[in-house]
Amino acid sequence: MTFYYDIANKPMIIGGRYGLGSKELYPGRSSCCVDNLAAAEPKNGFTVGIIDDVTGHSLPTTKTLDTTPKGTTSCKFWGLGSDGTVGANKSAIKIIGDNTDMYAQGYFAYDSKKSGGITISHLRFGHTPIRAPYLINFADYVAVHNTSYVRKYDVTAGLKDGGTFLLNCPWDEKELEKELPGQLRRYLAEHKINFYTLDAVKIAEGIGLGGRINMIMQAAFFKLTGIIPVEDAVKYLKGAIEHSYGKKGQKVLDMNYAAVDQGIGAIKKVEVPAAWAQAKDEELHPKTGNQWVDEILTPMNMQEGDKLPISKLMGQADGTFPSGTAAYEKRGIAIDVPEWQISKCIQCNQCAMVCPHAAIRPILATEDEVAKAPKGFEAKDATGAKGLKFRMAVSPLDCSGCGNCADICPVKALEMKKLETQMPLQEVWDYAVNKVTPKDNPMNKNTVKGSQFEQPLLEFSGACAGCGETPYAKLVTQLFGDRMMIANATGCSSIWGASAPAMPYTKNHKGHGPSWANSLFEDNAEYGLGMFLGVEQSRERLADKIKAVIADGKVSAELKAAMEDWLANMLMAKALVLALKSWKLC
Ligand code: SF4
Ligand code: SF4
Repeated sequence: MTFYYDIANKPMIIGGRYGLGSKELYPGRSSCCVDNLAAAEPKNGFTVGIIDDVTGHSLPTTKTLDTTPKGTTSCKFWGLGSDGTVGANKSAIKIIGDNTDMYAQGYFAYDSKKSGGITISHLRFGHTPIRAPYLINFADYVAVHNTSYVRKYDVTAGLKDGGTFLLNCPWDEKELEKELPGQLRRYLAEHKINFYTLDAVKIAEGIGLGGRINMIMQAAFFKLTGIIPVEDAVKYLKGAIEHSYGKKGQKVLDMNYAAVDQGIGAIKKVEVPAAWAQAKDEELHPKTGNQWVDEILTPMNMQEGDKLPISKLMGQADGTFPSGTAAYEKRGIAIDVPEWQISKCIQCNQCAMVCPHAAIRPILATEDEVAKAPKGFEAKDATGAKGLKFRMAVSPLDCSGCGNCADICPVKALEMKKLETQMPLQEVWDYAVNKVTPKDNPMNKNTVKGSQFEQPLLEFSGACAGCGETPYAKLVTQLFGDRMMIANATGCSSIWGASAPAMPYTKNHKGHGPSWANSLFEDNAEYGLGMFLGVEQSRERLADKIKAVIADGKVSAELKAAMEDWLANMLMAKALVLALKSWKLC
């Protein structure tokens, strides 16, 4: 969607769109159509944009042209949904639009996650009207507000020679050498980029703003771009703070004023070593061996979905997506993740129960499995499961850092620690969920503790950190998930439940799990009824066939008994629904 605003008689475009990992709705200005006209044998009837290697009608993208007027400053911001980046950029547009005679344009692209997803803000400022209804292909300024993005996205793509790159990170120059992938370091060196860092997370935590780094990064943006004199920017920013937070009291005002001052003062210039120009590419997205993940999910998650040719998506022509693919995302968006204190834990499983992302789970392992586990797999004797060991496993890369688990723990056996400190335990999690064999539930699964020994068949969803809805949906999958069919209405649950390309509903070791489909608009009751009637029809058709086979008399006594048993019980599910209805329970 794109919304047009006109503030102070200056044309502005403020847009937002929901995409499926696509980077460019409009490919900018490409010369492919002109090149086609000039070709010896131009295509008569063609498409532009998506690579159509099935019909062969699409034109190849040739040279991308920068058609923005001279003097336009183009800025791109890579933010994390809910860190305030988009709001701050809207505020920057307003400050510049209201207080100068410059033209301003903003366009905001989001992925389909709830908060915690990626946001990319495209801002242009200039003294001549901006007529550029497409994303920024050539940027003067790029800011990366989340440290993990340097290994996930091509964040410097299109950053102009001599442009400015600001990275929010805690790294000093030696650590940057290690943490930045080779291709990024090489780009900075080859294109003579002015490189700056700022530890906005540390500043925000010190001030008491938690994860809200927006004001700090916005102040840095004004300082580094010089679009308006920094003293004026500070004055306007503080005015905007008063306008937005004035009713929240002096303490909140002071915290945000401090964010502006410290954002400007804490920027560090990094001298890019000449040797970085020789840095080698690093493998950022190692192959998983799962073809769908490697060829479709990974490019879409890298914001490269528009580059997928149609032939790759032919398998999805019927609209189906494989389940369980959210497990491959490993987003690493948490700032703090829980550390399990084995000596304090009383094995109540409440932490696993409340986790919205199924990122903390009780594991029951044999002595042998513990002995073969990677370093850090500490376990204690399981209460109520003789002969087994108990460990509360945490996935640092799937945790969203909400702290629900630590809050609920009755004995404070979970301590929130910086993500980096817990990363060595990712291997422990991988072993716990992939290599430790699933055990029969030693408890009553209809209890809090017992339910958590069942595998959650909803995991690592695109829900906000601390979501109050997904723990219940997850619990339903633990109780009934291997036989569930879900007719999802459109709303929050359809977004976290199918943040394409990743699917958080998954399967157990027997290959059983929920099937899920989404009906647009609020008609999922009828939609679900249709699914129910469809299943009923299929079942009755099968019953007719079984009756015919039995009547034929050519089956063994054992198979005949099994068939008769199935016929006698085939309506159990329907009978249950009717019973629940008669008791007014559904
Ligand atoms: S911090 Fe939140 S997401 Fe992470 S394990 Fe705890 S409850 Fe789950
Ligand atoms: S809530 Fe605390 S005591 Fe209970 S299982 Fe989790 S870590 Fe252990």
